[in-house]
Amino acid sequence: MKTQHIIEAVEAVQAAILANESQIESLDRAIGDGDHFINVRRGCEVLMGLRGEIAPLPPGEAFGKIGMKLLSTIGGASGPLISSFFIAMGKSLAGIAEPDRVQFAAAFAAGVEAIKSRGKADLGEKTMLDVLIPVSRLLQRLAEQGAPLPALCGQLAAEAHRNMLATRDMTATKGRASFLGERAIGHIDPGSKTCEVAIAAVCDTLK
Ligand code: ADP
Ligand code: MG
Ligand code: MG
Repeated sequence: MKTQHIIEAVEAVQAAILANESQIESLDRAIGDGDHFINVRRGCEVLMGLRGEIAPLPPGEAFGKIGMKLLSTIGGASGPLISSFFIAMGKSLAGIAEPDRVQFAAAFAAGVEAIKSRGKADLGEKTMLDVLIPVSRLLQRLAEQGAPLPALCGQLAAEAHRNMLATRDMTATKGRASFLGERAIGHIDPGSKTCEVAIAAVCDTLK
């Protein structure tokens, strides 16, 4: 992968997030405080503005810069979590001029680990990790098997979709939705929806 792919991914994610505004907005209104869409949109705007600055950098440094920038601009619980994802990805790819798929998958897994340790959360707590953990595991498996790119993209998007939907039946044990107890059941987790939309958009750019 090259930094140009990161830039194309940023553009695709922003378009997809904007296209899903009403759903992301209403999910956080139902089981959170209603600001998740605004937080994520702000993050996308900031990354669009960063495109020129990251263009000449190798991917690891580009991810590091993205993480630091998001840390100082997105609010909410999701801001520091998403920032830690990119900072860890950047560290994992440090010194690699053009990471291959296995290296990218390892960096993605390091990013997910960073979210887990920062948010002190794991699978089954009705958070973005319910999408990110299974997607990361599948990505590593497919990358190591040398799966062709279209198949890899299709399977990752399907895995994200299935696991995003599965958060509907969960109770939350982390984040604001945990205050609602059983009343959170029946609503998809907003962070999981955002991750699913972002993953599907990135996969689309790679097909
Ligand atoms: P806030 O809850 O502070 O308003 P956002 O609305 O931007 O922040 O983000 C809410 C999302 O953050 C949730 O839907 C969930 O996916 C994610 N989240 C919250 N707490 C955690 C955590 N401890 N670990 C992982 N993800 C979390
Ligand atoms: Mg919120
Ligand atoms: Mg908030």
